[in-house]
Amino acid sequence: VILTTMVVFWVISLGASIYLSRWSMKPVIAAYEKQKNFVENASHELRTPLAILQNRLELLFQRPMATIIDESENVSQSLAEVRNMRILTSNLLNLAKRDDGIKPVYTQVTRHYFEKIFENYAMLAENAGKTFSSELQLDGNVKLDEALIKQLLTILFDNAMKYTDDDGQINIRVEKVSQNLILTTSDNGPGISDDDKKKIFDRFYRVDKARTRQTGGFGLGLSLAQQIVQSCNGKIEVHDNKPKGSQFIVKMKAV
Ligand code: ADP
Repeated sequence: VILTTMVVFWVISLGASIYLSRWSMKPVIAAYEKQKNFVENASHELRTPLAILQNRLELLFQRPMATIIDESENVSQSLAEVRNMRILTSNLLNLAKRDDGIKPVYTQVTRHYFEKIFENYAMLAENAGKTFSSELQLDGNVKLDEALIKQLLTILFDNAMKYTDDDGQINIRVEKVSQNLILTTSDNGPGISDDDKKKIFDRFYRVDKARTRQTGGFGLGLSLAQQIVQSCNGKIEVHDNKPKGSQFIVKMKAV
């Protein structure tokens, strides 16, 4: 009887410890999977520009007597790929930095901070033949991390520029409603399907991979935007813009 009891007890405690260790390992396994996915995706994104670069450089080697002018296409395409890789690696570094949990540094800003940012956006839009408008409902000061909010707005503005056609219309509204700061960017681009709305904040997710390679996207902008918003204890949502396009709404406490 004693032996049977001991065996039963041993089997139960072994089962319990296996179950508990699996359960406690779950977050570790999930984090490992996430990290593995990230590295795989990043390597995958680097593979294409590297292959193109290798091809172009090999072509240059085959014609050692040619001048740079003769080979301007190869040289400029190689440079374009190097630029792509620089953007990708700086995005990856930014994400990794944010993963370490950078704390926002809050300072008081006035409407002048937004006006300066919008001036630049208006110029960029005009140069691209698009229209930029802004609404600023902000009396007095608001506390925010200047660099982070500028980076966030720039990601949303850049996307609106990238995904609208020649008649692109982009609007950014900033308002302080009771204790909240609300930033809304709207555009008249193609919009985002309900299915894609759930995925666009995932790292490396792009709705139309062929088109985004042309527009130079890596699918990292919105995941960085979400990390910035979360680090400021805020929320970011995507909606349909009326009558057409997308709308991103960021809500955060106006501390
Ligand atoms: P990307 O570098 O590809 O732009 P993002 O993470 O910024 O990466 O965006 C993810 C995807 O969401 C984009 O590839 C694009 O398909 C879609 N998207 C983002 N912003 C817009 C927008 N304003 N209008 C339409 N689609 C958008």
